[in-house]
Amino acid sequence: KLSAAPADTKLVSTLLGPTQIPPPSKALNDRVAVYRADITCLAVDAIVNAANRFLLGGGGVDGAIHRAAGDKLYEECRKLNGCDTGSAKITDAYDLPCKRVIHAVGPIYDPFKHDESEKLLVGCYTKSLELAVENQCRTIAFSALSTGVYGYPSREAAPAALSAIRHFLTGKDGDKIDKVILVTFEKKDVDAYTEFVPHYFPPV
Ligand code: ADP
Repeated sequence: KLSAAPADTKLVSTLLGPTQIPPPSKALNDRVAVYRADITCLAVDAIVNAANRFLLGGGGVDGAIHRAAGDKLYEECRKLNGCDTGSAKITDAYDLPCKRVIHAVGPIYDPFKHDESEKLLVGCYTKSLELAVENQCRTIAFSALSTGVYGYPSREAAPAALSAIRHFLTGKDGDKIDKVILVTFEKKDVDAYTEFVPHYFPPV
């Protein structure tokens, strides 16, 4: 059964189509969570870093992850030769409590190229989930990719993230992921996820 989309359909375009609310599923809902936390403290299988194309550390969550992981993370990242925007690469986690770090390069938001920005952001979430599965990571925590200095509005990034995650969890490798945690630091991200989670993961 499909319900009506929110009035602002531009915000719910992406993989699920603009006018559909997917059917509720308790099993699916139980596998997605929103935490307001410091991602460097989470003992999950993989955390997803909001990296830049050089993969050599930076500000924001990237800086926090490199500081907490230690110099060996920088040494491994140096050997990766960077990463394309819209994609991701995986490393060990060194001094972090998680097992692996996935470095995803989100787009710098361009309001005049909304669809292109969205495609790249969706690509980050999808590629990160693929890397998790390839590396036997069953629990994955995402930072709010691109919503910091890269300027992606949280209310537009949340639907892209949730749509990519739902699409993956219902796809062929979906059962290889037990838990997806959306980690937020700021109220604007909490508000965006609170607004859009019920659209992509409707309450049963
Ligand atoms: P980008 O360059 O992709 O925009 P930022 O690091 O600037 O990345 O921001 C991404 C998000 O990560 C922002 O919402 C920011 O508030 C958040 N953030 C910063 N530090 C942490 C942390 N230690 N744990 C979780 N999220 C964090």
